Amino acid sequence: MKIPGMKGCRNFYRKCCNMRYQEVRKGRFLHRPNRFVAQVELNGKVETVHVKNTGRCRELLPEGAEVYLEHADHPGRRTQWDLIAVKKGKRLINMDSQIPNRVVEEWIDAGHLFPDKTKVQREYSYGESRIDLYVETPEKRILIEVKGVTLEESGRVLFPDAPSQRAIKHMKELQRAVKEGYEAYLFFVVQMKGVEYLIPNVETHPEFARTLLESKEAGVRILAYDCEVTKDSIFLRQEVPVIETVSLLYGMAEPVADWYEAHRRDLPWRRKPEPYGVWVSEIMLQQTRVEAVKRYYERFMEELPSVASLAKAEEDTLLKLWEGLGYYNRVRNMQTAARTIMEDHGGSFPSSYEEIRKLKGIGTYTAGAISAFAYGIAKPAVDGNVLRVITRYLAMEEDIGNPGVKKKIEQLLEDVIPKGRASAFGQGLIEIGALVCLPVGTPKCADCPLQEQCLGRKRDLLDRLPLKKKEKKEG
Ligand code: SF4
Repeated sequence: MKIPGMKGCRNFYRKCCNMRYQEVRKGRFLHRPNRFVAQVELNGKVETVHVKNTGRCRELLPEGAEVYLEHADHPGRRTQWDLIAVKKGKRLINMDSQIPNRVVEEWIDAGHLFPDKTKVQREYSYGESRIDLYVETPEKRILIEVKGVTLEESGRVLFPDAPSQRAIKHMKELQRAVKEGYEAYLFFVVQMKGVEYLIPNVETHPEFARTLLESKEAGVRILAYDCEVTKDSIFLRQEVPVIETVSLLYGMAEPVADWYEAHRRDLPWRRKPEPYGVWVSEIMLQQTRVEAVKRYYERFMEELPSVASLAKAEEDTLLKLWEGLGYYNRVRNMQTAARTIMEDHGGSFPSSYEEIRKLKGIGTYTAGAISAFAYGIAKPAVDGNVLRVITRYLAMEEDIGNPGVKKKIEQLLEDVIPKGRASAFGQGLIEIGALVCLPVGTPKCADCPLQEQCLGRKRDLLDRLPLKKKEKKEG
């Protein structure tokens, strides 16, 4: 296949095709007067270059960014260079919007996904749209719409970076195609390497997120691959998980907070939440049932009502107050943390998530709980209850014992915490897990504020979720 300005390499590298650019130079991005061109400093001179991506890419092109330009052999064109890639931190991001469908075509051509294909055709007219690729096998007719992804935030990628009615139209066409007997794919090419997962950009385009989920439910296959990107090449690397259910999380936020306000249990540490009390209760609750913790909590708070009193308490007193709760390291760590607060924070409980997280014995859950419940900071508190509710709600068939899954859920929840309601939302999820979405026996879905949208319930997966793989026995 010949592509103007690019060699489609037929030597398979890591079993993938390798799209190569020719005559590439490094430059420094200055500014972008309009969507089509940019000013770049190249060899000490300011050049006007063509931007091979008409998307906004605002986050990608800050002034001074290291960019890569390909010499464009187009006689008569005003600009002689095309901007094809940009360095963001350590990551090189290809931003050539013409490349994703070519990369996928080459990759399929090379025998991936449909090894028995008999035909691959570009720009296939279907309904009111042109779908990027049409593939035929002896048994199937396949439509593939390809989308390039360049927006990265904290190791995950989002699509789209600006509202895209075109993408909606394509997804509707793919849904129709499935009904007519085609196999249909939405194929995201993540134009960078090593991202954790892809989510629809709900805040930028909620309709896209809803339609993506609807497409998946309608049988459209959603795939994403990241790419090995160098300054002069790009090729598909490995599959990236797509969490197309994210829009459901946005839909759950206010109902969870409302439900909590109407149904919460009256617990001593909830009456007047302040950081010290939330901290003590959360540490006690780590291994003990709520009912049992109540009296320990009240006694502890009476004896040691402040960080200062905890910092200077005798060990005997501490152990006596903790007797029956077990895991004495928890209270020893608390005392160490209380002393740190006295020495490093002048006796005031730290008021940022990051500072709280640094204290001895405080992990992401407890730091999130203190931040959200006592200070109203928009941080999630993800414990076993929350993992169970979320994996059931999103029908996530992933091992909740895997720290990566917990991290992903924390990150997803942080995005959806309703403004000013971090405490009600965070405690609501925990309360639903404790009272409704039970760990043992049948969850009480009829009492759950999430029953209408819950995918685990709709897909009849509740006897399997949450998924917890058994640890391998040693020896
Ligand atoms: S509907 Fe049922 S399974 Fe889903 S979150 Fe609620 S209680 Fe859990």
